[in-house]
Amino acid sequence: MTRDRDRSIRVGVSACLIGERVRYDGGHKRTPLIADVLPRFLCLVPCCPEVGLGLGTPRNTLDLVEGTTGPRLVMTEHGKDYTQDMERWASAKVEELKRQGLCGFILKSKSPSCALADARVLDHEGRPAGFHPGLFTAVLRRAHSGLPLIDEVELRNPESLFIFLERVLDFALHSRPSLEAELWGETTRPGRGSTEP
Ligand code: SF4
Repeated sequence: MTRDRDRSIRVGVSACLIGERVRYDGGHKRTPLIADVLPRFLCLVPCCPEVGLGLGTPRNTLDLVEGTTGPRLVMTEHGKDYTQDMERWASAKVEELKRQGLCGFILKSKSPSCALADARVLDHEGRPAGFHPGLFTAVLRRAHSGLPLIDEVELRNPESLFIFLERVLDFALHSRPSLEAELWGETTRPGRGSTEP
């Protein structure tokens, strides 16, 4: 890891949002605000849980389906259940990201793996039965409580974007006290006054 990278504020991002062709159909969901603007301020760390799981690209689609202890992640075509695999992979990935100093995560809406809250859940007849976070996000929330999270839809709202960035900075400053001096120097942080004449 380079010195600059050590100093930067690291924020995870669903990889399809920065243009990586990791979606089930081999495409992406590049969002210019995320792919072009945010990297000026943040070190974006791309992550695709479904590719991480080894499902490849392109791949069959996944669904969340009602289960006795919560939604299950199953492949649409043949019903193979990936819930445990995803929970295991996501737990290890979140620990790795924590060790690297993750300070926030930008998630892809509606995804059964990445959604913040709006992934569709089906009943056993295949009918819509509600909404839930994607399974990767559910693990991320459990294992990294307090981590600022947002999806690309909410990010388009300037007020939400500002609040998210504020929370990320706050999280970074609390988890890495040396960051304040790295960003502003010992005496020049805005609002703290300065010893300069
Ligand atoms: Fe991968 Fe998440 Fe994007 Fe789906 S939404 S392609 S799992 S990064």
